[in-house]
Amino acid sequence: MNLHNVEFIKSAAAAQGIIYDAKPQIVFSGKSNVGKSSVINKLLNRKNIARVSGTPGKTIHINYFLIDKIAYFVDLPGYGYAKVAKTERGRWSQLMETYFYDARHIALGIMIVDSRHPPTKDDITMAKWFKSTGCDMVIVANKIDKLKNSEKDKNIEVIRDTLELSDVVEIIPFSAEKGTNKEILLGAIEKAIKGWDNV
Ligand code: GDP
Repeated sequence: MNLHNVEFIKSAAAAQGIIYDAKPQIVFSGKSNVGKSSVINKLLNRKNIARVSGTPGKTIHINYFLIDKIAYFVDLPGYGYAKVAKTERGRWSQLMETYFYDARHIALGIMIVDSRHPPTKDDITMAKWFKSTGCDMVIVANKIDKLKNSEKDKNIEVIRDTLELSDVVEIIPFSAEKGTNKEILLGAIEKAIKGWDNV
C-alpha cells in the first residue's frame, strides 16, 4: 500500500455524512491532546494532513482519508476535553453511537492512549465501544518517549488491566514524535486490510 497516496475525502459532522462503502476502514480514536493527529501524520509521513490541534475538543467531526484508493483512515473526534459544553458532549456521543452502530466497515480499531497515565473513564468507554463491535483492535500507548525505561512495562500492564483487554489485543508502545514502533503499527494495519473480507 502506497502511504504517500493520500486523499482527504470529507469531514462528517452528522450521521448522514458517515461512509458505508465497501472499503475497509482503519479507525483512530483517542482523547484530545493524546497525539492522535501526530500519530496519523507520522504514519502518512506528512507534517499536517491530520491537523495537530491547537484547541483540543473543538471539532466534533469524523475525518476520512483515502489511502492508495484501498482503505480509509478514519479520524474520530477526540474526547474527554474538560471545557467542552454539555451539548457538544451530547453531539459526540450521538455521532459515536451512530458510527459504531453498524461496524461492519471497521477493519481495525486503533485506540490511542497516553502511556504516561492510567486510561481515563472516557478511554474505558471508548474501549467498550470497540469491544462491542468485535472488530480487531490495537492499543497505541503514545508518548512513550516521555517515560523512563523502568516505567514502561508497568504502565503497559496498567493500560491492559484498566481497559480489561484480552491477551490477543496488542499494546504498542509508540512515539509519534520519534517514530518509535511505527513499522509495527503499519504492519498491523496492512494485516487488517489484507485479511478484511466484510461487507
Ligand atoms: P490530538 O489532539 O490527539 O490530535 O493531539 P496532537 O497530535 O495535536 O498532539 C498534542 C500534543 O502532544 C502536541 O503538542 C504534540 O506535539 C504532542 N505529541 C504528540 N505525540 C507525541 C509523542 O509521541 N511524544 C511527545 N513527547 N509529544 C507528542
